This record gives sequence, C-alpha cells and structure tokens, in this order.
Amino acid sequence: MLTIKNLQASVEDGAEILKGLNLEVKAGEVHAIMGPNGSGKSTLASVLTGRNGYEVTGGSVDFDGVDLLDLDPEDRAKEGLFLAFQYPVEIPGVSNVNFLRTAMNEIREYRKEDRLSAKDFLAKVKVAGNLVELSDKLSGRSVNVDFSGGEKKRNEIFQMAMLEPKLAILDETDSGLDIDALRIVSEGVNKLRTKDNAIILITHYQRLLEYIKPDFVHVLSDGKIIKTGGAELALELEEKGYDWINEEIAQ
Ligand code: ADP
Ligand code: MG
Ligand code: MG
Repeated sequence: MLTIKNLQASVEDGAEILKGLNLEVKAGEVHAIMGPNGSGKSTLASVLTGRNGYEVTGGSVDFDGVDLLDLDPEDRAKEGLFLAFQYPVEIPGVSNVNFLRTAMNEIREYRKEDRLSAKDFLAKVKVAGNLVELSDKLSGRSVNVDFSGGEKKRNEIFQMAMLEPKLAILDETDSGLDIDALRIVSEGVNKLRTKDNAIILITHYQRLLEYIKPDFVHVLSDGKIIKTGGAELALELEEKGYDWINEEIAQ
C-alpha cells in the first residue's frame, strides 16, 4: 500500500530532518513508529500528508500505485490518506459535522461516487460518535473549539471513522489521554481495522501498543529508521530506552 524509499526532507530554514527513510506498509498491517523526541516522527507525517513548510529533497513515496509526493494535500486525502494530528487544530465557525460532510462529499466526487444522503450521513455520525463516545453536542460544535485535550484526540478518531481512510497515520494520539480515554480511543481504532486498510501509529509509549497490537515496531532516530522488530521491540524500548540501538549499530 505504501512504499517509502530513501525519503529525504528538509524544513524551510534548510535543516535536513528526514535523512533517507525507508518503510513499507501493506494492507491489513499496523506499524508503530517510536523514537526519541525530535527524531522526525511528526515531520514524516507532515511530509506524507503534504503540509506546507517542508521540502522533499530526495526519495519516493508510492501510495497504492500513485506518486504521493506529486499530489496536493487534499488529493492525498481523497486517495485515502488520513492524519490524526499530534496537536489537533481548532476551526472556529466551522461545525464538526459540516466540516465532515463537506470532506466526505469531496472525497465521493473525486471517486465519482454519489453524494451521501442526509439520512445516511447522520447514521454514520451516530455510529462513529458511539465508537469513541463523543456526544452529539460535540459533533455539532465548531471543530475542536473548547474541546478538552481528550475530546480533541477522540474527535480525530471520530473523523477517521467518518472518512474511512485506506491509510491512517495517528501522531501521538495517546499522549495526554487518561486511561479511560486511551481505552476508548484504542477500542475505536481496533474496530476500524480491516484487511484492506492500514495504520501507522506514532507513539512514545508501549502502553498504547498493549491495546492496539502492532505487526511491526520501527525506531526512528535522527531521520532514519534504525531498527525494526515485532511488538516485543516496544517492550524492550520501554525497558532499555533507545541508546543501546546506536551502540548495537556501532558494533
Ligand atoms: P518528533 O515528532 O519525532 O518529536 P519532529 O518531526 O516534530 O520530531 O521534529 C524533528 C526536528 O525537526 C526537530 O528538531 C524540530 O525542531 C524540527 N522541525 C520540525 N518541523 C519544523 C519546522 N517547520 N521548522 C523548523 N524545524 C522543524
Ligand atoms: Mg515529539
Ligand atoms: Mg511529534
């Protein structure tokens, strides 16, 4: 589904952040990306989704046969890419449901599908809202405005449930969540897993991976994936930190 080859990217002031990153994600898989603060995890998410302020200086990203880096951010989303933000954005004056109805109809138009009827849309809102225990009140309010930290993160997964992406990138969706919210969010994500979609989970904590079992765990350090393993690697990282990997590589 996603093939990233030797991806290199800089921020606008010129500093190189991604320094030759390789990653392959197949349908049905969950990949966890862990790594120290500042290693480039969010930058990877930003570059994949096409956020302004980053320049790709090398490498390629193939998304189901499409050259992802060639597309505008909105077309990447229409191709089925989704990002749950580390810091969800507030959009005053735009209601959550109108935002999603517009997005979903744009996606349908792009795929030459019929628009959603109001009835079908509202039925989906109900199912997706229940999934992450987001009340009707919140789905009607301005996007993320005056939401608590946990509600913002649950709202990201609500959006994911509505948009049904092929590939979802969750950037530290677990950070700032209390235990109950973590469970709600994780169970929601697990229910959205199918054999046809895939998830990249960016996280600092093994805790999340107890709820959402990853098929692969990658360590991102200084703009490169320096180690890949199974779910057990997350446990090892929790115990030993990251430094031993660099020592292992040096040897
Ligand atoms: P992580 O998500 O792994 O904690 P980030 O991808 O957010 O790391 O950041 C990686 C490095 O790139 C950091 O040193 C950060 O300060 C820098 N960086 C990220 N985005 C920008 C930007 N837009 N402008 C300048 N520096 C940036
Ligand atoms: Mg960080
Ligand atoms: Mg980050």
